[in-house]
Amino acid sequence: MKKALYPGSFDPITNGHVDIVKRACRQFDQLILGVIHNPAKTPLFSVEERITLIREVFKDQPNITVEGFQGLLVDFAKQQEVFTIVRGLRAVSDFDYEFQMALTNRELCPEVDTVFFMTDIQYAYLSSSVVRQVAQYKGDVRAFLPAPVEAALRKKFGYE
Ligand code: ADP
Repeated sequence: MKKALYPGSFDPITNGHVDIVKRACRQFDQLILGVIHNPAKTPLFSVEERITLIREVFKDQPNITVEGFQGLLVDFAKQQEVFTIVRGLRAVSDFDYEFQMALTNRELCPEVDTVFFMTDIQYAYLSSSVVRQVAQYKGDVRAFLPAPVEAALRKKFGYE
């Protein structure tokens, strides 16, 4: 059984994240989405809301599970007995940060490796923060998000 862990803020999950999940599911039997709870940041959606939304998006896929976590990613990975971390790459701009995190995590836990999936070109510019900004001004974000997430975002900002 090949397992992998895809950690992220997912605030909220976008079609870009979903694309990475699909690619990872072709390579791994089981994928855990780890939703980061960072007490230093104020997210738009609480960790519980993000978990509920992601579960809704993947409700027909029993090979995908969703958990929240706090603290070090490698500690959560060890606790889940998963030694492969999945991350997504959009453009060169993601590389520096991802490189630093992957090598730091390897230093902290040598058994853990990070694998990267390149997003579909249509999502290469997409990020949760851009989606949040557009939605804040009541812009149309349907093209960027799974339907339940889009509905939740409209509700959050109070528009139909
Ligand atoms: P984090 O705060 O951990 O970066 P994000 O939810 O922003 O959390 O991103 C989680 C992972 O998903 C990162 O590896 C990021 O590069 C990747 N990702 C985000 N948006 C996209 C996208 N549009 N296409 C592919 N990968 C993406």
